[in-house]
Formats: sequence, structure tokens, C-alpha cells
Amino acid sequence: MSAPFPETARLTERVRRVLGLNPGLMTGPGTNTYLVGGRRPLLIDTGAGVAEYAPLLRGFILAERLREVRRVLLTHRHRDHMGGVADLRRLYPRVPIAKLIRNDPDLPVPMEPLEDGAVIGGEGVTLRAVHTPGHASDHLCYYLEEEQALFTGDLILGGTTTVIPPDDGDLGEYLASLRRLLDLPIRRIYPGHGPVIEPARPTIEGYIAHRLERERQILGALGAGAETIPEIVARVYRDVDPQLHPVARLSVQSHLIKLEREGRVRRIEGADPARYRTA
Ligand SMILES: [Zn+2]
Repeated sequence: MSAPFPETARLTERVRRVLGLNPGLMTGPGTNTYLVGGRRPLLIDTGAGVAEYAPLLRGFILAERLREVRRVLLTHRHRDHMGGVADLRRLYPRVPIAKLIRNDPDLPVPMEPLEDGAVIGGEGVTLRAVHTPGHASDHLCYYLEEEQALFTGDLILGGTTTVIPPDDGDLGEYLASLRRLLDLPIRRIYPGHGPVIEPARPTIEGYIAHRLERERQILGALGAGAETIPEIVARVYRDVDPQLHPVARLSVQSHLIKLEREGRVRRIEGADPARYRTA
């Protein structure tokens, strides 16, 4: 990130951003957390649990003449979004914390369950939960009706790429989630990492096109004789920083799972490490 990214920012009359203070290769300037609405705001996501985050949030809330957080809404269970929950609870002992509960045996505190379509009211704001699995099975976006804006968590990022982890992620579901967004009137995206995205639609369409292009490239690499995941990565991600190749392997694996399910790729029996061919 070359441009400075402020730790706190008032983005619009209704939306403020506080950084999780966890910059990195995969997190960009760090996780964005968002205060939404007036006086007693909703808080979307909690950062990674970096010790300086809660004091930063508290200081910003005071400086902006807001009162305590009304409710915490989580986009998904990954550590860089849910890691600050315990610190939030210390700051606001009674604040309800809500997420879509799915395959969640180890939640750090009891949480309110949210489902697709849940409407969450704040002061001067209405948020609607949109189940968008693919990056994670429990992933929710939140649609802010007053701004026709979407808080996208890790579904869409500003400036970094989204990983589809092969264990809990699903590339087919990820693409379906992106296509579902095209049915919503979205003008602006508040991503889980990186700057605000506006207009929204070209970015959503670009994300879909990017995945389909990768799929074509992977099929092309298989057709040219690449069989293992590292061989495919070496061809398809030739122009990508090698530091990102371990992550690219996860992406390729997710593509192969999807393609195998669709009957377009088959796994060679008994090969270890796994080898693939076009079907
Ligand atoms: Zn994530």
C-alpha cells in the first residue's frame, strides 16, 4: 500500500472505519472494522485481537462524541475478523455479539445467531444480512439500506485478493455469492480490507471474470502437461510475487475441487502428491 491509510476515518455521515492494526501480506493495511449509525453505533467486525485496537476504537468513539457500541456484527469466523471479540467484551461487557452460526464449536463467547435476511436496526441505519458463503461457510455481508452500500467482509477486498481455503471455502459457492450481489442495488462497497470501492458493480463483475479467467488458465496448464498443484501454480501465477505462491496453491486446489465436481477434471488415482488431468 503506497498511499497512507489512516487508523481511523469518518467515511460518511453514517459510517466510520477503525483499522484492526494488523497489516500484512494477506490483510493489506489490516482488517477494517466499521462503526455504523449514530450515537450508539453498530460495530462490524473486531480485528485480529491486536492489543492496541480496543483503545484506538474507544478513543475514536469518544472523539466522535459517540456512546458505547450497541451490537457487534461479525462477517465470518476468521481470526482477523473475530480475534478482537474478547477485548470488545472487556470494553463493553454487555454488548451482544452476532454472527451466522455454522460449524462453530469453538466460539470465544456465546453469540446471537443471525440468518440470511436478518434485519438489524441501529440509530438512523438499517442493515440486512446477506449469506455469502465461499470464502467461509458462515460468511455474511451486511447491506446498508440508507446508502445502498454493502459491507463485504472478505468476499470482496480493496486491493488484495481473496483466498478460498479448500477446507471451509468453496469456489462454486463463492462465485454464486458474487452473482447474487449483482441482484442487489449496490452503489458502494465497504470491504473487510483496503479502501472503499465505488462504483460497486464493475468490481463485482471483475471478481467474477477474474475467477473464470483463472479457471481457463488452470485448464490450459493441465492441457499443456502440468499435473500437480505446484506445476500449475508455476505456469498460471508466473507473474505473481513468489511469496504469494503458497496462497496461490490453495486457490488452485479450490479450482480443482470445483472442476472435479463438475466432471471437467479428474484426479489420477493413487498419485501422491495429487495429480490431475482434464476429463
Ligand atoms: Zn477471512
